Amino acid sequence: MIFDTHIHFNDERVYQNFDKHFNEALESGVKRFLCIGYDVESSKLAIKLAEKYPEIYAAVGIIPTEHKQYELKSEENLGTIEEIRSLAKSSKKVIAIGEIGLDYYWEKAPEIKEKQKIMFKEQIELANELNLPISIHCRDAIQDCFNILKEHKVKKTGIMHCYSGSKEMAKEYEKLGYKIAFGGVLTFKNSKDTKETLLNIKKESIVFETDAPYLAPTPFRGKMNEPKYICETVKFAAEMLNISYQEMQDIALKNSLEILNINYEN
Ligand SMILES: [Zn+2]
Repeated sequence: MIFDTHIHFNDERVYQNFDKHFNEALESGVKRFLCIGYDVESSKLAIKLAEKYPEIYAAVGIIPTEHKQYELKSEENLGTIEEIRSLAKSSKKVIAIGEIGLDYYWEKAPEIKEKQKIMFKEQIELANELNLPISIHCRDAIQDCFNILKEHKVKKTGIMHCYSGSKEMAKEYEKLGYKIAFGGVLTFKNSKDTKETLLNIKKESIVFETDAPYLAPTPFRGKMNEPKYICETVKFAAEMLNISYQEMQDIALKNSLEILNINYEN
C-alpha cells in the first residue's frame, strides 16, 4: 500500500476526471492520499473530497506563489489566515497545513520574498496553534526556508515536498525532524541531487508523493501526472536502495502515518 503525501485532486486537470484517477490509483495499490490546498478555494475542495472519501485526507494553506494575491498589509493577511484557520477547524480530516513555504523561482522581487516569509511564518503559527504538521513548498529558497523552520519550530514538523536541495541540506532538515518527499523528479535522468539525497538520508525519513498533475515520473515525463504513476517512483526508489518494492512501500507508509499522526486501523 502506497501513501501519496502530496496530491492535487483539487486541481482542475485532475478533478475533471476524478473518478477515473482515484479508482485507477486505488487499483494500483495507492490507498491513502493527502490532498493539498494551495489557496482558499482549493483548500475547500480538498476538504470536500476528504469528507467524502475515507482514503483522502486534506491539507489547507496558501502556497507562496499565491502571495501576490494578498496585500502586504497584515490585516489582509490576517483575513486570509482567518479563512484557513476556520477551514482547518471545520473538519477532522484536515491533518496538515500546506502547502506553505517560499518560492524564489517564480518570485524574485525582494518585497515579494518578504511577503512570502510573513505568510509562511503566520501559517507556521497556525500549524502550532492547531498542533498540525506542515507540507512545505520550497523552491530556490532552501537556506531561507531552513532558517525560518529553525527559528520558528513547528511542533509536529512535517514533510519537505518535492525536495530539491543538496543531500547535506536534506540531513539538516532530517535533524529538525522533517520527512523528505520523493516524487517524479527522482526518476529523471538529470536529478543527481535528488538521487544522492535518497541514498544518503535515513530510511525513516523517506516518503513519496505524486504532486499530480505536475512532474510525472519517467516514462511519463512531460505528460500530465496521474495519481497511479506514483508506483513508478516507488519502484525506482526500491531499485536504487536495493530493497523490494513491497519493503519500500512498507517503510514509506510507516513514515507517512507517523509524520501525519494517523492511527492506521484496517
Ligand atoms: Zn503541490
